[in-house]
Amino acid sequence: MATQTSAPTPMMAQYLEIKSRHRDALLFYRMGDFYEMFFDDAVAAAEALDIALTKRGKHAGDDIPMCGVPVHAAETYLLNLIRKGFKVAVCEQLEDPSEAKKRGSKSVVKRDVVRLVTPGTLTEDTLLDARRHNFLAAYAEIREEGALAWIDISTGAFHVMPCPLVGLGPELARLNPSEIVVSEAHEANWAEFVPDFHDRMTELSRASFDSTSAQNRLTTLFNVSSLEAFGQFSLPEVAAMGAIVDYLDITQKGKLPLVRRPVRESLRGTMQIDAATRRNLEISHALSGGRDGSLIATMDRTVTAAGGRLLERRLSSPSRDVDIITARLDAIDFAIENTQTAESLRDALRKVPDMERALSRIGLERGGPRDLAAIRNGLSQAENIYSLLEAAPVSTLIQQKMGFLTGQAELIDLLDAALVAEPPLLARDGGFIAAGYDEELDECRTLRDEGRGVIASLQVKYAEMTGVQSLKVKHNNVLGYFIETTATHAEKMLSLSDTFIHRQTTANQVRFTTLELSELETKIHNAGGRALEIEKRLFETLRMAILEHAPAINDASGALAELDLITALADLAKAEGWTRPKVDSGREFLIKGGRHPVVERALRKQGGDKFVANSCDLSDGHDGAAIWLLTGPNMAGKSTFLRQNALIALIAQAGSYVPAESAHIGIVSQLFSRVGASDDLARGRSTFMVEMVETAAILNQADDRALVILDEIGRGTATYDGLSIAWATLEHLHDVNKCRALFATHYHEMTSLSDKLSGAENATVAVKEWDGEVIFLHEVIKGKADRSYGVQVARLAGLPDAVVERAKSVLEALEKGQAEHAANPKAIIDDLPLFAAVPTPAPSEKPKESDVEKALNEIIPDELSPREALQVLYDLKAKL
Ligand code: ADP
Repeated sequence: MATQTSAPTPMMAQYLEIKSRHRDALLFYRMGDFYEMFFDDAVAAAEALDIALTKRGKHAGDDIPMCGVPVHAAETYLLNLIRKGFKVAVCEQLEDPSEAKKRGSKSVVKRDVVRLVTPGTLTEDTLLDARRHNFLAAYAEIREEGALAWIDISTGAFHVMPCPLVGLGPELARLNPSEIVVSEAHEANWAEFVPDFHDRMTELSRASFDSTSAQNRLTTLFNVSSLEAFGQFSLPEVAAMGAIVDYLDITQKGKLPLVRRPVRESLRGTMQIDAATRRNLEISHALSGGRDGSLIATMDRTVTAAGGRLLERRLSSPSRDVDIITARLDAIDFAIENTQTAESLRDALRKVPDMERALSRIGLERGGPRDLAAIRNGLSQAENIYSLLEAAPVSTLIQQKMGFLTGQAELIDLLDAALVAEPPLLARDGGFIAAGYDEELDECRTLRDEGRGVIASLQVKYAEMTGVQSLKVKHNNVLGYFIETTATHAEKMLSLSDTFIHRQTTANQVRFTTLELSELETKIHNAGGRALEIEKRLFETLRMAILEHAPAINDASGALAELDLITALADLAKAEGWTRPKVDSGREFLIKGGRHPVVERALRKQGGDKFVANSCDLSDGHDGAAIWLLTGPNMAGKSTFLRQNALIALIAQAGSYVPAESAHIGIVSQLFSRVGASDDLARGRSTFMVEMVETAAILNQADDRALVILDEIGRGTATYDGLSIAWATLEHLHDVNKCRALFATHYHEMTSLSDKLSGAENATVAVKEWDGEVIFLHEVIKGKADRSYGVQVARLAGLPDAVVERAKSVLEALEKGQAEHAANPKAIIDDLPLFAAVPTPAPSEKPKESDVEKALNEIIPDELSPREALQVLYDLKAKL
């Protein structure tokens, strides 16, 4: 028998039409108290969420797979789906089902998508990490000029910067956006260009990136006649910003969030740190993946969410501007010198809610009464904080920020008068407007409450009337108020049928109502409904009042975050004994008694050895490279030393005190850190290949202001290959990049390089040998390691004694053999030619002039006749 294919039901037809407009998202189709998913969406969601897959009706003769999530728990499911890389289109019922019925029995409830939930466009607190930004970025290119724009829609902060395609990777690594929109017309191979981010990319049509429509979108959004009001933007910058606004329009279905004025960042303003370096230095995530054990987690003493996000921003983009850094350090000085003021500040800041995010939800009509209260509490706390600082000898930066803390008295008074102290989360059920604020509301509430009181008294009255003491007045959603008694007592009531009207008989109970009761109920219902309406109207007025002050609220919130960060960093500096670094535009790099903040804390937690502080001096005094070549056995502390110096530079330029006795740092423009042969199996590249790609990136990019940290480069291949690569790399850093660098290696042969390269010095981590065992002193000293102690380290690691003994004798034999043979590695190394690939001359000696150049230099064109000039040309040609 042939399957009969019938036309889809009206509801299914509606579903299919809406789905056809949202093919790349899962469609959450609202049906009563559930969001239902059908077809492939249902199959994918059921698997991702581990929920039951069922069926509903047939389509084209086949069962329709279906699954659903309850509306009240939808956020949790949403979060899960977003984390798994899905986008979700939320389709709501746009009218009451009774309206649809009025149009006829076949009519379906009007529905449409009200929001597209994507990783970059979240605003709900439950879906966000309070201490992390959630950025949506857009990359645009016009005639090979690129620009990157980004926004955190949960706070409205909007930025843009010029960004060539090659610079995209490091910028994305800095911002770590959850979603990046790019033009479908862009032909870059994203997987290759930005391997860490290509799976977060969303392609938009070419039209979203068109710079003319972008210009229009932006001027309309900001209500200005020209974007020049905010600064000069290049065409790609306008296109990138326009694409962001367009994507917000698409995902928020026309309800644009509050977008702050775009701030233009310059590519040269911040220390450039690429993705590999960030991973390696464990700035915001530990290598194990979590926040624990990262630099941020170790440094974070902020007491507000916005302060936590600011710390993340600062450590992700340390400044290169000496004035900005100095202003931040001055502010910390103030907090350290004025302990009491700082302490009271921190106490006051603890009570500051997350105004930025509350404001953004209010703007998107997703806010509740608690968000209104957050603004009230935050603003009045800002006033308190202002008065704490008013008489203090504050630094310039603090003075500047104080200007944003006051001036909102009117709004605070309004919210204070209108809202109860602790409003509920949702506006839906009312109860958030304070008594005494609106006369009509008070009246309705009194009527409603009196009615409830009278109903409560009815129970006593009816019990007396009927003599049934167990009778109860109850309420449910179907019957409303009713009187309930057991079947045994029902007789009595049935006999008083003038008063008691029978409503329902269940297994054990009989239910009645009375005229009085239903009249009261209507009264309560009407009064309650009216009260709710009034509250909703007032909510809207308060919402608008807040939105009118949005820029000022954001400024206040930003100022509070800054104060939080300043006092938190001061607190950290005092507790951990950190000092103020000297940061200037020179080329110094002198750190005395430096420590690795994360390792130091870990050691303290374990309660074992104390961290040994170490100094590092890469100041060269002239305009050349300064490199320390660090040798020493495994486990001696080489990696720790390397990283601590990079971290100290980063922390200093973020504007914080540093974990050292003293530090003098000439601005570092770029920070690079690489570890040899780190495992990167996840990306399917051989470890050695990764190592070489990463090293190449450094050698190609590092300028003379870069700080480069290389740990065991060359380790991933055979000994001589590795040694030669490490050797050539070091020479290139010294001769071509001319940067400051720390280079750790276990190739002892390389120590001879320091004799040949003027800017290179040997250093080693001291160990003591005692009774055949090594003791690590973790002390970095000038000079070379005498041997590698590999066998002793192996013993420490628990290698069986027999293996250790055997290894010792093999080693002895090898060493002896080497000494007796002519081809000893030392000799080979000494014969190696010095690095010669790029013959860049040292700055002191000028390159030799060729004959042609010499002749050209001697010519004075003004003194030549045309004829002589022609002759000169013939002569020059002859010299070639
Ligand atoms: P390497 O790179 O030389 O193999 P690491 O830097 O990984 O050595 O250090 C090995 C261990 O030694 C670390 O996990 C840490 O516990 C300890 N360590 C390193 N540096 C110090 C130090 N300065 N003071 C105390 N302990 C240290």
